[in-house]
Amino acid sequence: MGVDSFVSWLRDVAVSLHDNAAYLTELDSAIGDADHGANMDRGFQAVVGVLDETSFDSADELLKKAGMTLVSKVGGASGPLYGTFFLRFGTALAGADLTPETIGKGLHAGVEGVLARGKAELGDKTMYDAWAPALEAYDAAVAGGSDLGTALTAAAEAAAKGRDATIPLVARKGRASYLGERSAGHQDPGATSTTLILESAARTLP
Ligand code: ADP
Ligand code: MG
Repeated sequence: MGVDSFVSWLRDVAVSLHDNAAYLTELDSAIGDADHGANMDRGFQAVVGVLDETSFDSADELLKKAGMTLVSKVGGASGPLYGTFFLRFGTALAGADLTPETIGKGLHAGVEGVLARGKAELGDKTMYDAWAPALEAYDAAVAGGSDLGTALTAAAEAAAKGRDATIPLVARKGRASYLGERSAGHQDPGATSTTLILESAARTLP
């Protein structure tokens, strides 16, 4: 695999987030300000614009540019958080061969960036509630000798469970936390977009 796989991934994420923009916004209208779908769609359309204009020699350059684009084009909490994820993912891949192990290190570095920026903990009803089980499942699959496709599929499935598990939670970070107990009973928009991003990775990266 090489940089082309990562280009396919980012393009597929853009399609998936565009197709799911109304759904993500509906989720955000229940416990936020009804802009998550529009935010993600705008950000990834800008990433596609960059992909159309520029060719990249390496996955790390590509992911770093995608991250910087998201930071600059997306307001709200999710732009800096996803922007940091892709920036740190790219930085971790610099000079590395693309293997399930190095991609795992990149995913971990990206999620550590999300935590450094957002200070979320498990159970706060954020995107981290999808990322954390996804990383755990990915690591277990790779440790068991799985290939990249199998590990990413396991990660996406674990993210979906984490996303569903946000429904009963009371939000402790982000806008949804302003609602207190009233945030319970709704699925977190960011955990939903994280799951879409990982489902896309399982389809396109291997
Ligand atoms: P905003 O909340 O500024 O309108 P979005 O609607 O685009 O931004 O994104 C909301 C999502 O961002 C939430 O559903 C949640 O998953 C995620 N989020 C918000 N704050 C944090 C945080 N501190 N750490 C991790 N994720 C967060
Ligand atoms: Mg919002």
